[in-house]
Amino acid sequence: MASELRTLVELSRTLGEPGRDLVILAEGNTSIRTGPDRMLVKASGSQLGTAAGEDFVEVDTRIMLDLVNDEAAGEDDVERVFGELSRGGRRPSVEAMLHAICLSAGGASVVGHTHPVPVNIILCSPHAERMSSDVLFPEQVVILGRKPVFVPYMDPGLTLARAVQREMLRQIELDGAPPKVVYLGNHGIFALGESAAEVLQITAMAVKVSRILAGAITVGGVRTLSENEVARIDRRPDEIHRRQVLAGTWRSAGRPAGGSHA
Ligand SMILES: [Zn+2]
Repeated sequence: MASELRTLVELSRTLGEPGRDLVILAEGNTSIRTGPDRMLVKASGSQLGTAAGEDFVEVDTRIMLDLVNDEAAGEDDVERVFGELSRGGRRPSVEAMLHAICLSAGGASVVGHTHPVPVNIILCSPHAERMSSDVLFPEQVVILGRKPVFVPYMDPGLTLARAVQREMLRQIELDGAPPKVVYLGNHGIFALGESAAEVLQITAMAVKVSRILAGAITVGGVRTLSENEVARIDRRPDEIHRRQVLAGTWRSAGRPAGGSHA
């Protein structure tokens, strides 16, 4: 677990760097798989930018998923169960249920949840759903997949967790693969990575997409790629190769590839 904890602390501090403008104060949280049904997740109230080992608690993801899947469970049950999971005065954030969903149904190994300013400008606007529906440029598809999940604003806690799980399962059924990113209306994003480096790449690409989308709207409108163009990018041998090279770089060096394919 020591190496997973180190990875998670490093990822959290990176996501929390003030210059990235992804979170302030105690916003956001991170998690990493530590076993088939285990995860380390940030404790409520601690800050990503100054994260240390004691800011994370290890929990059984099945406990979270049982709450989400038990239709009779309510917020009182969440309060009781999360209280029981507290260790040394640290308890998981209520968003830990979303992390459990991303690590189970979403198939991720590492998850980063942030509230990036440029992304939230879109997610707090009438254009929010376009973060998921509009494909603007090829790299967006390579890094974020063909169809990110969008969930409109809902009460944080069980209501939101159930909606995210429902949308994620629907997307997997439609696309045959889990999403790389989940956009939450009026809230923020979840990046679902195979590694910490992939979480950083997904987050950076979501920020880029949001900036370009906002800019295009202000200069007269958005010209999106068609479904055929998107499908073509997804199947092009050079794009498949690029995706594999990126994935290989993430695994071998633990850091995202620096250059663009151009
Ligand atoms: Zn949040």
